[in-house]
Amino acid sequence: MKRINILTKYSLIWSAVFLISFIILSSIIDVSNEALLVYSAASMGFFLITVIFIYKEVNLPLNKIFNLSGKLKLKEDDFETPDYFDSKISELNNLIDDLDRMKSGSVLNREIFRIINEIHSIAGRTLHELETAKVFKINRNEFMGNVAHELRTPIFAIQLSLETLIDGAINDEKVNMDFLRRAFNQTSRLKELVDDLISISKFETGVKMSKRYFRISNVIQKTAEELRYLADKKNIVINIEQPEDPEVTVFGDEQRLQQVLVNLIDNAIKYTPCNGTIGISRIVKDKEVIVRIEDNGIGIPQKDLKRIFERFYRVDKTRSRDIGGSGLGLSIVKHILEAHSSRINVESDVNKGTVFEFTLKR
Ligand code: ADP
Repeated sequence: MKRINILTKYSLIWSAVFLISFIILSSIIDVSNEALLVYSAASMGFFLITVIFIYKEVNLPLNKIFNLSGKLKLKEDDFETPDYFDSKISELNNLIDDLDRMKSGSVLNREIFRIINEIHSIAGRTLHELETAKVFKINRNEFMGNVAHELRTPIFAIQLSLETLIDGAINDEKVNMDFLRRAFNQTSRLKELVDDLISISKFETGVKMSKRYFRISNVIQKTAEELRYLADKKNIVINIEQPEDPEVTVFGDEQRLQQVLVNLIDNAIKYTPCNGTIGISRIVKDKEVIVRIEDNGIGIPQKDLKRIFERFYRVDKTRSRDIGGSGLGLSIVKHILEAHSSRINVESDVNKGTVFEFTLKR
């Protein structure tokens, strides 16, 4: 069906009605010529006024809305162009300003006002989504950059050791094992990093937890025993406060919560100098159990406390990389605890020590 402009349609209908009424008046009723002239002039005047009215009230605002709403179109192909988000966001902000101006402008009819309101709210929502997408894109790019950087360091070290061996060191009995060991240690670091990356990506896409009741004391004991050889290397003592009620159970995914303990105790060992002490305790409350891991290590400056749970955030970049951390441990801890509707608290004093505390439902 052919779509025609409302004014064209109105003019056609008006001309037909005028012609028919003119014929009726002049031939059938036979009114005088003067009367016909007055009738024609009055009809023309009425026609012009209604045309201007329709144009101002309907055509003009609809055309304006049509032109403005074109700005709502998003082209997915352009998402990767560097300035796409910024330019689209400013375009949408302008659109919202224009719509605001239209809303507060001269009297509008109710239907058109409603359309403007609707487009205004669609533009607001699109703007919000674009801003979120922009943040995601920045985070993704930053994350990719960090991953590449973290992978490059051990790969480079492995390459260097192997190159040295190939260039002749393989035949030098004094150093060949040393270079092989160095390469091997770096592959362990690479594996740890890749494992952590896989965990992070699983948690961020929402991995399913398999929750049940289990004895928290057993898991604390088991984890501490597994990591004791690391503490022994630095002559660090791990004190586990003996619970009054070792039978107390908590509700959660045992394996994942053990991962939380591994990461926190491992950090406590890493960031505590030789001969230090680590304390692990539980506080049993009515409906929850608080788990506390305390060390008397190097501590974390106040300004960094807020950021240590971010991916790849390290207080002392070179030192913790040397110690061997992936920079993802606490981020994984946070994800696991969030999936248990639990939060982690940290308090720390530089050169005095750090306390991490989290709560589990019992
Ligand atoms: P990493 O693999 O570098 O240890 P994490 O995510 O586990 O990464 O920890 C982030 C940063 O928080 C560490 O680099 C370190 O600077 C700091 N940190 C974590 N635990 C402790 C602790 N017990 N004592 C001092 N600093 C810590």
